Amino acid sequence: MDTDQDFTIENALEKIKVGGDFMLGYPVSQDFDYSRLNEFLKYPINNIGDPFEQTTNKVQTHKMETEVVDFFATMFRANPKDYWGYVTNGGSESNLYGLYLARELYPNAMVYFSESTHYSIKKNIRLLNIPSIVIRSQENGEIDYNDLANTLQFNRDKPAIVLTNFGTTMKEAKDDVSKVKAVLRTSAIQDHYIHCDAALSGSYGAFLEPRVPFDFEDGADSISISGHKFIGSPIPSGVIITRRSTKDRIAKGVSYIGSMDTTITGSRNGHSPLFLWYAIQKMGIEGLRARYKHSQEVAQYCKNELIKIGVEAWTNEGAITVVFPKISEAIKGKWQLATDDVTHIICMPNVTKEKIDEFILDVRIEKGI
Ligand SMILES: *Cc1c(COP(=O)(O)O)cnc(C)c1O
Repeated sequence: MDTDQDFTIENALEKIKVGGDFMLGYPVSQDFDYSRLNEFLKYPINNIGDPFEQTTNKVQTHKMETEVVDFFATMFRANPKDYWGYVTNGGSESNLYGLYLARELYPNAMVYFSESTHYSIKKNIRLLNIPSIVIRSQENGEIDYNDLANTLQFNRDKPAIVLTNFGTTMKEAKDDVSKVKAVLRTSAIQDHYIHCDAALSGSYGAFLEPRVPFDFEDGADSISISGHKFIGSPIPSGVIITRRSTKDRIAKGVSYIGSMDTTITGSRNGHSPLFLWYAIQKMGIEGLRARYKHSQEVAQYCKNELIKIGVEAWTNEGAITVVFPKISEAIKGKWQLATDDVTHIICMPNVTKEKIDEFILDVRIEKGI
């Protein structure tokens, strides 16, 4: 605990700086520079309402918000004539929106999600009061398609909402949406909806080789990502992309703001769309691809260096997350590594081979080699 004397703005800032230097376990990019946007912090920017609708409020960044949505809708191969979305407060809200849409379309549905699914899904399902069934995961964290098929068979009388993961939290496993689609086809459940939680990996999913099916052309009905993870932002944010035709079925007009109340919260952060827009403008598709390539190279390097010192490290194909057996509390604490039954390092774009070397040295010292 800080004593009151220590508790100054300078100290708070210093702690954050030092903390950021030793962060290998959480998926947050730190290599951004938004100083060009400093002036915007002087204004109470509020993106209340549907970003694609006219509004009477002029202190907003709806134009940028819609361009962020356009960018991800294109990357996720949405129908150019039928997509919609908005910038949320994070992947969790994006997931809530996807599940909310699904529930409104199919009020009697059952939700299916794998045991590797992020906790935001369980919380959202509780909030929405939808019945759900947990599906087994394979060893690599991917959903067990056979278990999904068997479970669907027992519930054929109910519409199915399947939650697919594109990058699970611990192992960065990716569920194949086309396989899920095939399972749904075989089970002959016609009323179904697939929401893809792509919080981390959605931002580079289009660059994976070989591709893992996850997007609209592959069969997803909505996709969520976190903005502060792979792209990076000083404020947590997210994006939800879905079909306009789906959203329109649940939209309600509010005359007070002169817009449609299609989002979850009322007042909405107008700065986050600005950060995401600026980042996308600067990076472009090619910059984003280069970020992914860098991360993947560092992940391979990290895996190989760990194997060299006798640690059984592995990655899912194309992943930037390196998984290995549980590590000591000391190292876990220093490097802020998330751990459940395994430990992982996420090689975000700001992580360098030099950083990995520092980490490896700590492991070697501990092992006495
Ligand atoms: C981080 C994460 C989320 C939640 O995103 P937030 O932006 O933290 O709300 C959801 N799903 C997965 C798989 C995640 O990794």
